[in-house]
Amino acid sequence: MNENEKRVLMVIFGGSGDLAHRKLYPALFELYLKGQLDQHFAVIGTARRPWTHDYFRQTVAENLQAGTAAQQQAFVGHFYYQSHDVQDADHYIILKKLIDTLDEQYQLHGNRIFYMAMRPALFGTIAAHLKSEHLLSASGFNRLIIEKPFGHDYQSALALNDAVISTFARDQVYRIDHYLGKEMVQNIPYLRFDNPLMAAVWNHDYIDNIQITLAEKLGVEERGGYYETAGALRDMVQNHIMQIIAMLAMPRPADNTDQAITAARREVFTHLHQYDATEIPRKFIRGQYGPSEDGQALGYRQEDKIDPKSNVETFVAGEIQLDLPQWQGVPFYVRTGKRLPLKKTRIDVVFKSAAQNLFGSETLAAPVLTIEVEPEMGLTWHLNAKEVGQSTSAIQRPLHFALSQTEAGQVPDAYERLILEAINGRRSNFVSWQDMSGAWQFIDGIRQVWEECQCPHFPNYPAGTMGPAASDQLLQASGRHWIFTN
Ligand code: NAD
Repeated sequence: MNENEKRVLMVIFGGSGDLAHRKLYPALFELYLKGQLDQHFAVIGTARRPWTHDYFRQTVAENLQAGTAAQQQAFVGHFYYQSHDVQDADHYIILKKLIDTLDEQYQLHGNRIFYMAMRPALFGTIAAHLKSEHLLSASGFNRLIIEKPFGHDYQSALALNDAVISTFARDQVYRIDHYLGKEMVQNIPYLRFDNPLMAAVWNHDYIDNIQITLAEKLGVEERGGYYETAGALRDMVQNHIMQIIAMLAMPRPADNTDQAITAARREVFTHLHQYDATEIPRKFIRGQYGPSEDGQALGYRQEDKIDPKSNVETFVAGEIQLDLPQWQGVPFYVRTGKRLPLKKTRIDVVFKSAAQNLFGSETLAAPVLTIEVEPEMGLTWHLNAKEVGQSTSAIQRPLHFALSQTEAGQVPDAYERLILEAINGRRSNFVSWQDMSGAWQFIDGIRQVWEECQCPHFPNYPAGTMGPAASDQLLQASGRHWIFTN
C-alpha cells in the first residue's frame, strides 16, 4: 500500500451544490493525484435531487481541470450519490446502508468525515439524525466539517454549536475558515516565531499599528439573497479578518501541538477590547457601493435579489484593539469591501519610526513589513537606507521575496490543505468554539450600535474605488494613513 494513503469515507451534505463542485471535489482530486487518497476512499454526495451515481460522477468530472481523463475517471469511480432529504429520518437509514457497504468495499476501517456543505439552518437536523439513526462508526474516527456562516450572531452560533456537540465531541468538530488554509497566512507563525529578530520586535515597543485589507473586486454576484442577511461585517470580519488577527497577535504557543496553538489563539479572542457603545461609530465605519463612475458596474441596490432601499453594508473599516500587554496601544486597522478596484488580501505591519532622525532626512518613513496573501504571495520589508551618491537623505528600500511561478503552482488550494488536515486529525488550523464565540460577541456589539444609530447615507462609494472617505478618516484621526492605497 502507498504509505501516504489515508482511509476515509466522506459524506457530503449538499453534494450537488456549488461549494462541493467548485471547491471540494477538485481539492479531493488533488489529494488523489498526490497519492494521499488512493484505493481506500469513497465519497457520498447527498442532496434532494434524484441523481444517479453516473450522473453525479459526470458532474464531478466536469469540474476537474487537472490530471488525465483516465485519472479523472478512476477518481470519480469512488463517488456515489444518495438522494436525501435531510429532514426525513428514513433517508438516513438508506444512507447508513450505503455507508456500511462502501466501508466494507473500500476497507475504510470506519473512518468517516461528514461535511456540511449546505444551509446552516439544516446543520442541527443533520447532526441529530446522524446520532439517532446511528451513522457514526464505532470503530474508526468520526469527524464533522462545518462551513461558514456559523450562525449570524452569538446566540444563533451558540444554538448551532449546542446542536452539533450533542452528536459530536468537541474535538470531532472542524469549523472551516479557508483563510487559515492560505499559504501566506500559514506562513505568519514561521515568520514571527522562527526568526528571533522578528520575535524580538513583534510587540508594542516596535510596532505602531497593523493594517489588514481584504479587497474584493466582485460585487455580490448570485449571492444577493444571502448577502442581504449578512453584510460585510458578518461575512468577512467575524471570521476571516479575526482569524488573521489571531495569527498576527497570538502569543508564542508552548509547542506545535493542536492544544498549544489553539490555546495561543484563544488568548486573542478572549482579549478583544470591547468598545463602549458611544465609541463604536468612530471605531467602525461602513459603506455600500453605488454604480461605478463610468456607469459600467451596477450599484449594490440595483443588483439581483437586493432590496432597492437596502442598508446592508458592502464595506467595513474598523479599529480593533487587544487588551494584552504585548499589544497595548497598537491598533489593528481592518477593512474589507466588495467592488473595490482589485482583489487583494494584504497585511501591512507598520513599525515605529526612529525617535531621532540622525541624518536629518526629511523623507524618513516608518518601516513597513508587507505580507501579500493573495493573489501575489510574498513579503516585502520597506527599510530606510541611504540614498545613493552624495546625498545624506534616507530613502525606503524594499527587501523582497515573492513565490516564484513554480512555487506558486505548488501551493495547495486552501480546501485541499484543510481537508487533508481534517483527515489527519490536525485541528490547529480550524476555528475553535472559543474563537467563534469571542468573535461573535465582539461583532454583535458593533451590529447593535449600527442598528440603533442612523445609517450613513448609502451608497457612499462608487464601485471600483477603495471605499468611502470615512475609511481614510478613521486612520487620519490618529495621524495615520492606509499604507495600501492601490
Ligand atoms: P448551493 O445552494 O449551491 O448548494 C446547497 C446544497 O444543499 C445543494 O446540494 C442542495 O440540493 C442541498 N440542499 C438544500 N436543502 C436541502 C435539503 N432539505 N435536503 C437535502 N439537501 C438539501 O450552496 P453552496 O454555495 O454550495 O453553499 C453551501 C453552504 O456553504 C452555504 O452555507 C454557503 O454559505 C457555504 N459556503 C459556500 C461557499 C461557496 O463558494 N459556494 C463558500 C463558503 C461557504
